[in-house]
Amino acid sequence: MALSSIYNSTEKNYQIFTDSLSTLLALKQYYPRHQLILQIQNKIHDIISNNNHISLIWIPSHIGIEGNERVDQLAAQAHLDPPSNTPIPYYDIRVMTNDLICSKWQKEWDKITNFLKIVMPELNSSQNTKINELSRNNLNIINRLKLGHSKITHSWILNKTNPPICENCDTKLTIQHILIECQNYNEIRKKHQMPNDIRSIFKDGKLQNLLSFIKEINMFNNI
Ligand SMILES: [Zn+2]
Repeated sequence: MALSSIYNSTEKNYQIFTDSLSTLLALKQYYPRHQLILQIQNKIHDIISNNNHISLIWIPSHIGIEGNERVDQLAAQAHLDPPSNTPIPYYDIRVMTNDLICSKWQKEWDKITNFLKIVMPELNSSQNTKINELSRNNLNIINRLKLGHSKITHSWILNKTNPPICENCDTKLTIQHILIECQNYNEIRKKHQMPNDIRSIFKDGKLQNLLSFIKEINMFNNI
């Protein structure tokens, strides 16, 4: 809208304020993927070619800018318009599809109650970003710990014996018990700077602490 006004105006210097940083960054691209960005670039090029000067300025919000209400009205109105024929790049659809799948998956995940849910309540979290730095063996151990399923806590099912008991605490032996509850490992936990809640234990920066703790309590081969 602002560019169209400039196009029809006789002034020479213009400043356009926008709160859309992503649009400004996209306008800097040499080969924009989005058809709309290309159209805006072409319009700016036409205006500048006529000896005009335009500054595009990012502002955190529209508040206090003249014409803001009109822009907001037009934006609201645009939602009621029929679908545009402007081609949408594949990338935009991929982002929207990913968001939709993640939100649906999260809704299903919210209904589930298990140990992994405590470790990872949000599916889209960035918890796994450094996981590639782990060896395959260490990664297996971390994943089993996250799932709460390990040789020591679950092999009794296959062996058809009784569930294991922590002899020190006389309680059911679980991964949660080993990692944060068992009093027997208090000192070793401190030594390896283990967080005292399950979620923090599995954060990126703490995985090596977790592995060294598991090794020191001689559990590595039992996980
Ligand atoms: Zn114990």
